[in-house]
Amino acid sequence: MSDTVTAEMINQLDSNLELNLDRRAKERLLLYINLLLQGLRKQRLTGERSAQGLIDKHLYDSLYPLKLINLKQDGKILDLGSGGGFPGLPLKICLPRLEMYLADANRRKTMFLQNTSGQLSLDKIYFINDRAENIGRDPEHREQYDYVTCRAVAETAVLAELSLPLLKTGGQAILYKGPRGEAEAAAAEKAIKSCGGYLEKTYDYKLAGGEKRFLFIIKKFESTPSQYPRAVGKPGKKPIRGAAIPEEN
Ligand code: SAH
Repeated sequence: MSDTVTAEMINQLDSNLELNLDRRAKERLLLYINLLLQGLRKQRLTGERSAQGLIDKHLYDSLYPLKLINLKQDGKILDLGSGGGFPGLPLKICLPRLEMYLADANRRKTMFLQNTSGQLSLDKIYFINDRAENIGRDPEHREQYDYVTCRAVAETAVLAELSLPLLKTGGQAILYKGPRGEAEAAAAEKAIKSCGGYLEKTYDYKLAGGEKRFLFIIKKFESTPSQYPRAVGKPGKKPIRGAAIPEEN
């Protein structure tokens, strides 16, 4: 039996999240998840392989922040480590005016994203097949984005070093985190501060199945020092550590 997503399932998701998506967005979400299911038969694009699982875990999680934050509709946004497309592709589908950059180090995943977005007839969507450490040092991308999203790529301290260099001053990193998020945030204080940011807001919510999630909004308030991000592999192997120096009372 072939596992597919139905229009019904997308309508249900839309009403669960109270997003009020238009017909076009719902059609595109439907086609995207079905293309992902097809792609999964050929390559590992996500750990989840069932239609309902992709909707309840990945799509629901990707879109939940739309209930919490007001993204600038025509903002410039980079999804770091997009993999099979979460959360960048669903966000782009729901906010079609966004200028979306999907970045991933894996070539086959980038090719999947490129083909898929062609089939979805999306415009203002671009693909970067490179490591975040290189992208963050490239003047074409450094300090260019209003938002960087990141889901299931690395721990928060590492993500701070990879995402903050890409943001304009005033921009925000939107980090999707699992149940360990809270402990990670404390361990990332120094990394966030060193790269010119602060933890502006933390949200917690639950997936359809009850699994706990955190969303961290890290705001960039000053330019990132030029030594960050460090060379490929360094941020992950040796994250910037330690709590930020406490303010004097
Ligand atoms: N965001 C997706 C994929 C998570 S898997 C989701 O939520 O399902 C992590 C992805 O990040 C992989 O596709 C991997 O290739 C990519 N990745 C890991 N480290 C990276 C780096 N330093 N630069 C660019 N991509 C990276």
